[in-house]
Amino acid sequence: MNGLHLIGDLNGCRCDPKLLLDGEGFRRQCVDIITRSGLTVVNSTFEQFDGGGYTGMVLLAESHLAIHTWPERAGLTLDVYVCNYSADNSGKASHVFDTIISMFQPEEVARHAVDRGDHLLTEALNDTTGFYIKAGRQLGEWQTRFQKLAIYETAQYGKLFRLDGYNMTSERDEFVYHENLVHPALAAHNAPRKVLIIGGGDGGSSEEALKHPSVEQVTMVEIDEDVIRVAKEHFAAVHGGVFDNPRLRVIVGDGMKYVAETSERFDLIVLDLNDPVGPAEALYSAEFFQRCRQTLAPGGALALHIGSPVAQPARVSELAQRLTGVFRIVRPYTMFIPLYGSLWTMVVCSDKLDPKAFTADEIDRRIEQRRLQALQYYNGETHEGVFALPNFVRDLVMPPRIKAPQPRGQRLGVVRSAAK
Ligand code: SAM
Repeated sequence: MNGLHLIGDLNGCRCDPKLLLDGEGFRRQCVDIITRSGLTVVNSTFEQFDGGGYTGMVLLAESHLAIHTWPERAGLTLDVYVCNYSADNSGKASHVFDTIISMFQPEEVARHAVDRGDHLLTEALNDTTGFYIKAGRQLGEWQTRFQKLAIYETAQYGKLFRLDGYNMTSERDEFVYHENLVHPALAAHNAPRKVLIIGGGDGGSSEEALKHPSVEQVTMVEIDEDVIRVAKEHFAAVHGGVFDNPRLRVIVGDGMKYVAETSERFDLIVLDLNDPVGPAEALYSAEFFQRCRQTLAPGGALALHIGSPVAQPARVSELAQRLTGVFRIVRPYTMFIPLYGSLWTMVVCSDKLDPKAFTADEIDRRIEQRRLQALQYYNGETHEGVFALPNFVRDLVMPPRIKAPQPRGQRLGVVRSAAK
C-alpha cells in the first residue's frame, strides 16, 4: 500500500510542561489540527498514566496518528501514517506532523520519512553507516539451504540480487566488480590456462575469465545451486550465457572442501564470495589462503575482494596483513563499486606474478592481442589506476615504514590499535 509514514523522536521540549502531562487537553487540540488539515478522524483514545505522561492513538480514515510522552525527560515520540489509496494525503500528514512538533518546541528532533509501498533496500556497511536502493518490485524470494536469496527490479540498477540482505550483483553495474576482480590478475599472466572461481554463482566472474582466449577451462565451485538456478533464469545480463560455454565446468559444493581435495593446479583462483561473514567466513582464513597458494600453478595468482577501506578499515587491514603472511607479492587495489555503496578493496596475491609491474600501454597491448571484448570498465589506465592507493588505504594495507606526521583528528580508514 503506498503511503507516507512520518516518525519523530522529540527531546528537550521547551513547551509548557502541562502539554506533556495532560492527555485529554492534547487530544482535543490534536483532533482539531487533524480535522482542519483535511484528514478524517474516526476515533481517538488516550491513556493517562498517574503522575506521568500519556499515550494516545487517533484513528484516521487515512490510517493513524500515535503519540507517547515522557514528561520526566521532556520528550515524546510521534508517528503519523497516511495511506495514499484514494488521494495523495502526504501533504496533509506533513502539515499535522510539523504543526504538532512545533507545539512542543523540541531542542532536537530525530525525523524519519518512510515511503510505504516501495521496497527500500538498505545495506549496512558497518554499525553506523550504509546506503539504500529503492526497488519497485520484488521478483522473487527464496530461503535456500544456505542463505536468503531475493531479487528485485530497480530503476537504477535493473534487476538486482541480494543474499541475506546484502547486494550481490545487478544487471547494470556488475561489470565494475567482475571486470576488476578478474582482469588485473589475468591480464598480468602471460598465458593463463586454468581458472578456479570459488563462489561466483551468478556467472559474472566466469564470463570475464573466459574472455581470455588462452583460458582452456574455468571451474566454478558454488555452494548454493539456487544461486545458479536464479542467475540462469534472471541474470543473463550478468553471465552473458556463460553457463552454456563448454569451457565452463560448474561444481555445486563447498569451495573449502574442493581446494582441500583437488589435485589440479590453477593459474588464477578467484574468491568471488559474500563478505567474510556467514557461509563464506572460513574462506578468508590464513589457512585457506595457504591452501589456495598450494593449489596455484607456478606463477599463478589469487584474487579476492576484502571490503570497504572507508567503512570496514579493520577488516581490510586484517585481511591484507593475513595475505601478506602467506604470499610474497600482495597487491591491494581499490575502486568505487556503486552497488556496494562505497570504495572497495580487492587484492591480487602471488609468489611470482606482479600486476603492478605492467604499464597502461602494456596492458592495452595485451587487451588488443587477446581481443578482450565487451570491457565496460577495464583498460590499461584503469589497471594502473586501481593500484594507485590513497595514503589512508596504504596505511591500512601496508603499515607505513616512515611514520607520516599525524594530521589533526581521526583520519578515514586508519584503525588506531590500542597496542600502539
Ligand atoms: N562478491 C559478491 C559480493 O560480495 O556481493 C558476491 C558474489 S557471489 C553471488 C557470492 C557467492 O559465494 C554466493 O553465491 C555464495 O553461495 C557463494 N559461497 C559462499 N560460501 C561458499 C563456499 N564455502 N563455497 C562455495 N561458494 C560459496
